[in-house]
Amino acid sequence: MYQKKYYSDFEAKKLICDIGKRVYNKNFVAANDGNISVRVGPDTIWTTPTGVSKGFMTPDMMVKMNLDGKILAGNRKPSSEVKMHLRVYKESEETNAVVHAHPPVATSYAIAGISLEKPVSPEAVVLLGRVPVAPYATPSTEEVPDSITPFIKDHHAVLLANHGALTWGRDLIEAYYRMESLEHYALMLTYSTNILNKANELNCNQISDLIELRNRMGIKTGGVPPCEIQPKQEASSKQAVIEEIVAKVTKRVMEQLQKGG
Ligand SMILES: [Zn+2]
Repeated sequence: MYQKKYYSDFEAKKLICDIGKRVYNKNFVAANDGNISVRVGPDTIWTTPTGVSKGFMTPDMMVKMNLDGKILAGNRKPSSEVKMHLRVYKESEETNAVVHAHPPVATSYAIAGISLEKPVSPEAVVLLGRVPVAPYATPSTEEVPDSITPFIKDHHAVLLANHGALTWGRDLIEAYYRMESLEHYALMLTYSTNILNKANELNCNQISDLIELRNRMGIKTGGVPPCEIQPKQEASSKQAVIEEIVAKVTKRVMEQLQKGG
């Protein structure tokens, strides 16, 4: 299902332009925000140039670099945010693509410092798992890659505090879909918890079934959202309270009847 081999240079550059259009048209970025990269060898990537809208890129604008940040081909400069991408490739061998954007709803969670982890949607559990918030780091410094490093191996999506989101995957479609799912999930969470003010969460048994499904899909990363064990005990204790109330009411009614009689 997912490609094992690396993209060719031609494929990588074209695919980055295609996905850039989607990122821009979906309102995941404004102006020249965001960046995309694709791995074409163990130590080489193609990435988007700085100062260009992701919706209007052509393959000749792309920059080829090695994982140490050395430019190998292209006439433009890469984004300073490419440091995050390089760190993900270095830490995760299976990663072949990284997407960074500022999707407005998910970024609002990043601004609030709230992880996306409430288990309300089976798709979000399977496709994203838990999305933690990496601590705030000054843009373009080494602090940025350092802030995400603890999450790279176990996750494939992270919110960047007061900044945006980063997703990665075994190919560019997977990395991009994770960004799409992340924004969709953030939007559903906002509606359910802040507008309807009601969210029935999936319990631990339901989540463990979903994690098993995810394992069968060959996805080992994502983490497990926190959940509550749905104990039989709780149900039976509720039943006990109801029975107690019924008994009390019955007793009172009988007493009234006897008095009346
Ligand atoms: Zn950014």
